[in-house]
Amino acid sequence: MEASPTLAVDAKAKALKAAGEPVIGFGAGEPDFPTPANIVEAAQRAAADPATHRYSPAAGLPALREAIAAKTLRDTGFEVAPDQVTVTNGGKHALYNVFQALVDPGDEVLIPAPYWVSYPAQVLLADGVPVAVPTTKETGFRTSVEQLEEHRTDRTKILVFVSPSNPTGAVYPADEVAAIGAWAAEHGIWVITDEIYEHLIYGDATMTSLPVIAPQAAPRTIVVNGVAKTYAMTGWRVGWSICPLEIAKGINKLQSQITSNVANVAQFAALEALGGSQDAVAEMRAAFDRRRKLAVAELSAIDGVDVVEPEGAFYVFPSFEGVLGREIAGRTVSSTLELAEVLLEQVNVALVPGEAFGAPGYARLSYALGDDDLAEGIARIAGFLGG
Ligand code: GLU
Repeated sequence: MEASPTLAVDAKAKALKAAGEPVIGFGAGEPDFPTPANIVEAAQRAAADPATHRYSPAAGLPALREAIAAKTLRDTGFEVAPDQVTVTNGGKHALYNVFQALVDPGDEVLIPAPYWVSYPAQVLLADGVPVAVPTTKETGFRTSVEQLEEHRTDRTKILVFVSPSNPTGAVYPADEVAAIGAWAAEHGIWVITDEIYEHLIYGDATMTSLPVIAPQAAPRTIVVNGVAKTYAMTGWRVGWSICPLEIAKGINKLQSQITSNVANVAQFAALEALGGSQDAVAEMRAAFDRRRKLAVAELSAIDGVDVVEPEGAFYVFPSFEGVLGREIAGRTVSSTLELAEVLLEQVNVALVPGEAFGAPGYARLSYALGDDDLAEGIARIAGFLGG
């Protein structure tokens, strides 16, 4: 298997920066804000309490599992019991557990593309077969029941459904979520719905949770979420899965053999994030929205770059097909993989090539970095591409 390309780009950009290079990193999806002070203070209090220094239940602190159930009802209207919640080392770990629990060798997992890098890798780790369902900018990077049906076989077990989407920022309208949920229920297909970007929605777009709008799919739906993106807590590593009870019990056994509990201090921080003041969330969202508009406007102005306006998350996913094959800085750039390499070498700008997401010809830029860096980074790309 390959290492995660998003983490690889991020690590390279951070190492170059540490070595004094003026790198601007559009790589990993990571808010530039510090974690809000009330959350950090809760963690400091927890660290000082000896009770926190001990093992705790592998499935998560009871208070946090309750808070996650309450937050899920509050934010999406999905009613779940704390027993269905497993607290994990980030959303990525929750997904890994779920694939391990559900996938038998040869099971097919439908993954609309462009997809986040770790879904197919994790399916392969469970001896499953990732089946990409390709979408394009013409459909706003959204799949449809017709398209899913074309890819369904008698080995199809799971659909990975992500809205808002990483890497495209696409957000599915409620009627499309309902139709996809109804299709999954009709064919007995499990849905893993990744809701990690639920609060990062802009303009007229709205967040619709699949098991709420399509309750008939709920008995076979797993919700994955976490505090990383909403509360600027990527490094704290707290995510969770919400599963039907029997699956949750299986995952808890798995987790008790592999990792035990997530660090207690981080769990107390997450507890404060979910239950404390939500003011910082709105402030960060407003900043992301401003940066989103700037990124779309500046990238669209570059000759050969085509942008679909993202409605959620904090990524923009332009097509660079119009610049491929051009002679740039003395060499012909023929793929976005090569373009990403050249941009880092020549103008110190790091972005993730579309190849990583199953979408050659595109690239992903996170706009969760500071306003000045964002403007400067895109200006460097424009200058380099001569547009
Ligand atoms: N989800 C983030 C991203 O796509 C974090 C990096 C990762 O874990 O892939 O950039």
